[in-house]
Amino acid sequence: RKAAAKAAAFEPAVTRDGTRIEVFANTGSVKDALAAIENGAEGSGLLRTEFLFLDRQTPPDEDEQARQYQAIADALQGKPLIVRTLDVGGDKAAPYLPIPAEENPALGLRGVRVSLWRPHLLKTQLRAILRVVPQGQCKIMVPMIGSLDELRAVRAVLEEAKRELGVTDHVELGVMIETPAAAVTADLIAAEADFLSVGTNDLTQYVLAMDRGNPELAARIDALHPAVLRMIAQTCQGAKAHGRWVGVCGGLASDLVATPILLGLGVTELSTTAAIAPEVKARVRALDLLACQDLAARALAQTSPEAVRGLVQASLGA
Ligand code: PEP
Ligand code: MG
Repeated sequence: RKAAAKAAAFEPAVTRDGTRIEVFANTGSVKDALAAIENGAEGSGLLRTEFLFLDRQTPPDEDEQARQYQAIADALQGKPLIVRTLDVGGDKAAPYLPIPAEENPALGLRGVRVSLWRPHLLKTQLRAILRVVPQGQCKIMVPMIGSLDELRAVRAVLEEAKRELGVTDHVELGVMIETPAAAVTADLIAAEADFLSVGTNDLTQYVLAMDRGNPELAARIDALHPAVLRMIAQTCQGAKAHGRWVGVCGGLASDLVATPILLGLGVTELSTTAAIAPEVKARVRALDLLACQDLAARALAQTSPEAVRGLVQASLGA
């Protein structure tokens, strides 16, 4: 039985009624990429590139970045790699990014705001990602997007980098949905984003107005709060109108209780911790999409995360 479970980890995840769900893993190093492959992940739905930028006096140059991204792409054996552009801010400062002291770093200069504040850093990073071979293995994802204009500004820098390097193929450029602004305008953003991936860690913090690092609030910071689920529902509706896929790369993707709800809302890609990827696949295989849609609709009408969890447990007969 153990051998069978092991083998299943390397098979695709398809619901009982035939919907294919991609199960990816989050990464931040070559080691993570190897763990993703060992656990049967189909690629990486989130490479956090911060590891290259923190704890140093100068930013990594284009060659160093290209080498590191290539090593991670190689460790993934050609499977898709979604590289997130730099996501630092006032709380993760680097000496070469003199972000003025902020009273609320979570609401300050961070994510794409930093990239557009220092566009030469963004350009260098995009050029390094574009140099990874085979061309097309890497997709690019932008964190903390709040409006379509920010995506357009990043795309303009990407087009410049492509021109400089003579890249003519389409390079997929997606966004993270982790601000309420992005979730409620997903229909506008999806018109020009190649894909959307929900960052439930930040989205929950901003929707519930609860600091994700505050231990006093930790027990109440639950991404299964109906307010967060409604944001994800709106994201999926907006994406669907433009034929874009929606993934989840925040912690909620690794929560087995959330799997049926996310599928029911229209999510088709889950980027989880590597270790839990086989269990997420097994959970997907036990689900019917139609039943998930019914469950998700009922979840949106609950009044607390506890009620949502209870609903799911009851439906799973657990
Ligand atoms: C998120 O916010 O859900 C996310 C995946 O990004 P990070 O945890 O790196 O902020
Ligand atoms: Mg985030």
